[in-house]
Amino acid sequence: MRTTFYHKLTSTSLKGEQLSDACCEQLLSASEVELLPLLDAAYQVRKTYFQNEVQLHVLNNAQNGYCPEDCYYCAQANSATTDIETYPLKPEAEILAEAEHAYESGAYRYCIVMSGRGPTPKRVAHLAHLIQAVKARYPIEVCLSVGLIDEDAARTLKAAGLDRLNHNLNTSESHYPKICSTHTYQDRMETLKSAQAVGLACCSGVIVGMGEENTDLIRVAKALRRLAVASIPVNFFLPISGTQLVEAHSLTPDYCLRVLCLYRFLNPQAEIRVAAGREYHLRNMEVMALYPANSLFMEGYLNATGSATSRTLQMIQDAGFTVKTNVEAVEQLKQEKAKNGNVPLKELKVLRPRMEPTP
Ligand code: SF4
Repeated sequence: MRTTFYHKLTSTSLKGEQLSDACCEQLLSASEVELLPLLDAAYQVRKTYFQNEVQLHVLNNAQNGYCPEDCYYCAQANSATTDIETYPLKPEAEILAEAEHAYESGAYRYCIVMSGRGPTPKRVAHLAHLIQAVKARYPIEVCLSVGLIDEDAARTLKAAGLDRLNHNLNTSESHYPKICSTHTYQDRMETLKSAQAVGLACCSGVIVGMGEENTDLIRVAKALRRLAVASIPVNFFLPISGTQLVEAHSLTPDYCLRVLCLYRFLNPQAEIRVAAGREYHLRNMEVMALYPANSLFMEGYLNATGSATSRTLQMIQDAGFTVKTNVEAVEQLKQEKAKNGNVPLKELKVLRPRMEPTP
């Protein structure tokens, strides 16, 4: 593909213009569109708005399970048979302690996530209290993901100091019935509109790899562009046994990176977060995600583990990016390095497994 193609992607995006559907399709799957120049074109856009900074987010799964919804991809769905540890909303002390840990780990944003269709007014009042408590103690941005909410709830949460509401669109309107039967794409859209109606910034993303077509991913990226959301987590579907959608649809690192580029071009000023599944699907190409994306999660996802904080911080530093955060993250990395400075040697049980005593 000629260099003018890649330049045009960058300039169209930077001018605030939208790529055509045909162009989006092409960059996702045309073999003549090469990955490295595509990543470079997306990086030019990323660099314009976010320089070389990476924002780190830490998730607190504040309530696990007990969900009446049946999202086919989710281990917490009432239809899932996955053996997960369920618990009701964590006590305030635990949420505050985890906020402190997130802050000290260098997180820019602390995301409190609760399972469920949506909170009752009583629960909204309690969440407002928790947000105030976190904000009073730590200089950290707070994001909340609590299912469907209306304008009144959004107003209460915003007044409490909530920085962002997360509510993912997940997939396109036409594909939605294939991933959930208890609520609709439109229900999710209403929640985002309620938040925006009261001036609450929104974070809303997508899950890639649930049997959708390229057109579905393009539609979601364009819907998020129309909503002008502040932040877009791009998740890559993690097949968890016991969920209804356990079948893994083939995702290659190359395709995942192209999707991140697509979301960057279509949403140049949004924070693009490489979210769940980065370790699993991007594998050795994980670091390349930092060229289109400017944000990632540390310490795992809702029900799946992720890579260690020190490894994530090292990856960011090795690639020449900087962490947008407090100084503690850098300090932590220095301490980890001092502790683990020596080249790790193989243990005897790895070198000569046959010599291990049999039980
Ligand atoms: S994604 Fe949320 S609403 Fe859907 S089943 Fe899981 S916890 Fe419930």
